[in-house]
Amino acid sequence: MNCSRVREIIFLYTDNELGEELLVSVQEHVVVCPQCARRIDYTRRLLTVVRKGCTRTRAPESLRKRILTSLRHPEVEWEG
Ligand SMILES: [Zn+2]
Repeated sequence: MNCSRVREIIFLYTDNELGEELLVSVQEHVVVCPQCARRIDYTRRLLTVVRKGCTRTRAPESLRKRILTSLRHPEVEWEG
C-alpha cells in the first residue's frame, strides 16, 4: 500500500466498501502514514457533512458527485 493507492480507494474505504485484504492494507498504511490518516479523517467528516446535506435537500446526488470528483483531483489541498 502506498499514498497514491490510498488516494485512489479512499472513498471505498470510507464507505466500508473495501474487501478484507485491501481494508487491512489501508489500515496498516495509515498507522505509519499520518498524511493518509488525516486525509481519511477529513474525507470521513466531509462525507458526513455531505450526507447530512442529503437529508435536507432534494438534489444531493449531483452535488455529492461534484464534491467527490473535486476531491479526487490530485491538486486539491487537504490541509485544514
Ligand atoms: Zn500514505
